[in-house]
Amino acid sequence: MSISAKRIFKAIAPHGAVVLYRKHRHENTLNYCPICKSEGRFNAAMSAGVRGRPSAVCPSCGSLERHRLIWLLMEKEVGVNNINKKRTMLHIAPEASLRQKFSELLGINYLSADMYEDDVDIKMDITNIKYPDSSFDFVIANHVLEHVSDDIKAMKELYRIQKKNGWSILLVPIAKSPKTYEDPRITSKKGRLEAFGQADHVRKYGYDYIKRLKSVGYRVKVYRLKDLASKQEIRRMSLKEKGDIGDFTQSEIYFCTK
Ligand SMILES: [Zn+2]
Repeated sequence: MSISAKRIFKAIAPHGAVVLYRKHRHENTLNYCPICKSEGRFNAAMSAGVRGRPSAVCPSCGSLERHRLIWLLMEKEVGVNNINKKRTMLHIAPEASLRQKFSELLGINYLSADMYEDDVDIKMDITNIKYPDSSFDFVIANHVLEHVSDDIKAMKELYRIQKKNGWSILLVPIAKSPKTYEDPRITSKKGRLEAFGQADHVRKYGYDYIKRLKSVGYRVKVYRLKDLASKQEIRRMSLKEKGDIGDFTQSEIYFCTK
């Protein structure tokens, strides 16, 4: 509403309408987390990423932008709230906020996994997964592959254990570059930080990441932030069109099927 329109509105509107308008305006400035359903103002100091994206973290469940975006996809496209509880999920390097939701929804059919952490159902190396072909309906492994030396081997394993009618979400940070940059000679923490943006990353993915996924057999559907959320939702959920250091995975999800 423009300033003059506001003045006219205040002059002619009954008191109740003005109160309602103020309440509406107040609610519009609040943030909302689609995962834990909490509403409030995200603290600008609760940032994330190397350069610190302000208000990135939900103060209630700790979700980051990409987790909230995944949940939007789950609600709007996958229909997660009506999910068949007999379906199975393998969640690698599980993010706490999503882990809580999926384990509630799927119960014993939800399995968390990690190579290093103890607080998971199973420890596993994703380049050598000890499960038969087509063991899981759903697979999630976000921000994992950029740490794995043989990522193609890991992708083949993840593809192998996914069922035909299931899906996988395998997000990675992606730099604004057409090609993935990797150099196995760079092994020091300092060298990797400089070359790949983080001391424990072994490559910097470019836009060709999608080709890597397809090369092991996945069919990939790209969901963009604007396909999943209105401008108002983007603001309320503290999502960003662009992330830090050229990472655009917060505004795109590669939804992988077989
Ligand atoms: Zn939350």
